[in-house]
Order: sequence, then structure tokens, then C-alpha cells
Amino acid sequence: MALPARRLPDNAPGDFYVDRTCIDCDACRRIAPATFEEGDGHSYVSRQPAGEAERRRALMALVACPTASIGTASRANASEGAAAFPEMIDENVSFCGFTAESSFGAWSYLIERPEGNVLVDSPRAAGPLLTALEARGGVATMFLTHRDDVADHEDFRRRFGCERVLHADDATARTRDVERLWDGVEPLRLADDLLAIPTPGHTRGHAVLLYRNRYLFTGDHLAWSRRRGRLVAFRDACWFSWTDQIRSMERLLDFSFEWILPGHGGWHRAASAQAMRDEVARCVAWMREIAAKAASR
Ligand code: SF4
Repeated sequence: MALPARRLPDNAPGDFYVDRTCIDCDACRRIAPATFEEGDGHSYVSRQPAGEAERRRALMALVACPTASIGTASRANASEGAAAFPEMIDENVSFCGFTAESSFGAWSYLIERPEGNVLVDSPRAAGPLLTALEARGGVATMFLTHRDDVADHEDFRRRFGCERVLHADDATARTRDVERLWDGVEPLRLADDLLAIPTPGHTRGHAVLLYRNRYLFTGDHLAWSRRRGRLVAFRDACWFSWTDQIRSMERLLDFSFEWILPGHGGWHRAASAQAMRDEVARCVAWMREIAAKAASR
């Protein structure tokens, strides 16, 4: 719980504040950009929310924060923020909020479909979210993109009996007993509308999920950079192989999608599948440049 005694000095005066426990995950800045900004290794309240809409976004950031580092001097009731999740992004795809510290605040997503709902990566198993998911039909499948973003997967299995899917190369002591470990380098058809695509690089067993040839859930493989205004991969957070990650990125050129929805970094919707393909190709070229520079040193 955020504590006034730990309030960061750069917060704007007023009700909302960020305290010293912030891990700089970026979630609040994306959820409520009118209120939160990036400081030196942390977020802070740059401007107190003005009006109901901004206050609601700030409360959503408060409940989504993985470390409970956002507080209000008035001890405001945050139920309005909690009730906003899962928040629709597009059609039947939603952002779950309630990020987990063990995933460094990675974002997870809900796909609502008649054949069974899918969670992509594990959010925090917070009561309000579990209740909301129950009301929306529960969870049939939990697709885990990679080993880092598994958070509270056991709780979701217990509550909803979902089948957890993870590439075997990313199984750990905590996940080796998930219901579906798959392996190899070929895509895995999970359903007519769901395709798991191996994307080794960030980790050895990283995979992305393609839904309806429209939405690509990219975990820590590919994201949108607000600062650069284009697609990026995280060189500094590439734990397995940058060379493999470039190959995996090139492989995505064989697939059609308009959206990317990552664990970290921004999501992005391109004007068309071809426009997204061009963006991915640009990202591949940029990744190759980084590799070439490193090789020439
Ligand atoms: S969501 Fe929480 S941990 Fe993440 S940057 Fe904001 S205050 Fe810090």
C-alpha cells in the first residue's frame, strides 16, 4: 500500500501521489497519461486529475499498479478504477489491468469468444478481476508467451480450470506442470482462430499468439515505442539471443495482422495488414543495424 511518508517529492501537490516503492514499469503512464509522467527511475504525478474522466483513469492506474505505489491522501475509494477492468481495446479484446510485480507490470489481455475465453499472460489474481472474468464466462485457455509473465497462473487454473499453454523451452519449476507444454519451431494451431507462433529471442521459448489474423499478442518480443514512434524490440532486455530474435521477427512477415498487443511497451494498430508488415520490416532492419554495430566494435 502506498504511504504518504514515502511520497516522492516530485509529485504535484494534491490528492494523488506515487511513493518510493515505484518500480518504473510504465503502466500508470500508459493508463493515465494526463496524470502520470516519467521521472528519474520512477513515475510521479505531474498534474492532479482534472475532472471525473481523468480521476477515473488515475484510479484505474492505482489499481493496475503492480506494487501498490500509487495512493491518495484522501484514501479514495478505488472501486471505480477496479470496476473498469477488463477494459475493452477493440471488439472482444480487452486489457486486464491488475498487473503483477513478478511480471514487472506486464500487461495481460482477455479475448472473449464463444468457443472459450483466452487470457494472454497472467494478470494479478485480484478479487475484482476474478469476479469480472467469472461474469464474462471465465477463462478456458491461458496462453503464456514466456517464462517471465506467468505471475499468478496457478490461481487462474484453480479458479477457472483453464488449460495453460506454454512453450516447453520456457518451462520452469513453477510451470513444468501446466496442461499443455508444446515444443519445436513450427506454429501450433490451438483453434481455427488461434495460432501460437514460436519467437525465440527474448527467451528461448518465447511465443506470440495470433488471433483471427488480426491481433498479435507479442509478450516481450515486439512493442510500439511512443518515444521513437515505431515498432521496437528490447535489446537491453533480450535474455536469450538477439540473432534469434531478429530471425523470429523476420518470420512474422509471413503472417497477417493489424494489431500488436505487447506485455511491455505500447500497443499499436496499423492502418492495414500491409502497413503493419511494413512496420515490422522496418523493425527488422533496425534490429539488423544494431547487430551490425555490435559486430563491428
Ligand atoms: S504503475 Fe506503479 S510501479 Fe508502475 S510506474 Fe506507475 S507507480 Fe510505478
